[in-house]
Amino acid sequence: MHIADYRVTKAILDRHGFSFKKSLGQNFLTDTNILQKIVDTAAIDREVNVIEIGPGIGALTEFIAENAAEVMAFEIDDRLIPILADTLRDFDNVTIINEDILKADLKTHIAQFKNPTLPIKIVANLPYYITTPILMHLIESKIPFSEFIVMMQKEVADRISAEPNTKAYGSLSIAVQYYMTAQVAFIVPKTVFVPAPNVDSAILKMTRRASPLVAVTDEDFFFKVSKLAFAHRRKTLWNNLQAVFGKTEEVRAQLTNSLEVAEISPQIRGEALSIPEFAKLSEALLPLK
Ligand code: SAM
Repeated sequence: MHIADYRVTKAILDRHGFSFKKSLGQNFLTDTNILQKIVDTAAIDREVNVIEIGPGIGALTEFIAENAAEVMAFEIDDRLIPILADTLRDFDNVTIINEDILKADLKTHIAQFKNPTLPIKIVANLPYYITTPILMHLIESKIPFSEFIVMMQKEVADRISAEPNTKAYGSLSIAVQYYMTAQVAFIVPKTVFVPAPNVDSAILKMTRRASPLVAVTDEDFFFKVSKLAFAHRRKTLWNNLQAVFGKTEEVRAQLTNSLEVAEISPQIRGEALSIPEFAKLSEALLPLK
């Protein structure tokens, strides 16, 4: 029997008198097939260290610990710490850290892995209220992890992995795909959680690129340009650019020139531009920075 077997989960929750906090995104997994699929998708073995975010009562942690070298799991809710000490007592390769993942000093913590030279993967069933901040915080941190295999709302997974010319494509697709490849591995129905969330979920697998997808002079400006191109999705690129940079003769002349240099039509919409095209555009717009 596993922690995630519905009857075991129920007994743990009852024994500890645990009540869910919606504000912390607490939806626990109660399907061992899905957990096995997550671990298989992440290709976890004894040569991999894992960082987990939000272990809950340990449903996913147990599956990771059975396969990985070591797991370090960050849980914000103090009430879960004694429960995890109980449910995971048989494992000597699990460390629970009672901290907010957004505030933890990850560099210092990961130096504590018994074998810090092993590759690190991040595996989690994320709290949905802060999915994007957690993703961006970890991707932009200097933590040397190779893969990120996480459960999130299906709609967010679709946006992150979206291709140009689709409704889901936007600045979040670009912010993540700049650093990582991203693919939806499989869909998870809401019925496998207690309590059930309002939406379906997906497992997204992201792999860090050896270097960012495109080379840009100024990363912040590149991300700014990719955001502003989607500020009003129905407006043309030209109108979105003017709304930010201004409408004076001088600015218009510079914009015209920059778009010509980047070989991009002003009448196009942001969603039609690939990431390499956004890179060309932001380079050509540098004089307006
Ligand atoms: N991993 C468990 C599972 O799959 O059943 C629980 C997943 S539940 C969706 C999200 C977990 O993240 C909860 O245990 C919640 O308390 C925790 N959490 C929420 N915000 C957090 C934060 N900022 N840092 C660390 N953990 C957090």
